[in-house]
Amino acid sequence: MKSYRKELTFNTRSRRAFINITPQIEDCLYDSGIREGLLLCNPMHITASVFINDDEAGLHRDFEVFLEKLAPELPYEQYDHNGYEDNADAHLKRTIMGREVVVAVTNGRLDLGTWEQIFYGEFDGMRPKRVLIKIIGE
Ligand code: ZN
Repeated sequence: MKSYRKELTFNTRSRRAFINITPQIEDCLYDSGIREGLLLCNPMHITASVFINDDEAGLHRDFEVFLEKLAPELPYEQYDHNGYEDNADAHLKRTIMGREVVVAVTNGRLDLGTWEQIFYGEFDGMRPKRVLIKIIGE
């Protein structure tokens, strides 16, 4: 069995962002040489998500509104966690959007549905954050 590991780093200019990372993950899969197996991708931080959904700008604005309704950034003092930090909302948003994705690798390709794309969801950005890609198979 082959095994491949890589870290990507993202440093967003805004506190929150959604980035389509499917092309970078496809590059990793190509570099791995793995044709059949499983790919895991997760942020190595507790205020960011990796998730699969549609690459459609309206939907991404809908996610932002939806998440702000459930876990608004402001006022900071509404959260117990915000004693020394201001990112309680980011922890909650990450939990809603999920930690990781697992994608089947078939015939050397990501075995995604027609509209499935892989996103990095940043909820407390403007600093370097790491994303892990692990691929196992043959
Ligand atoms: Zn925190």
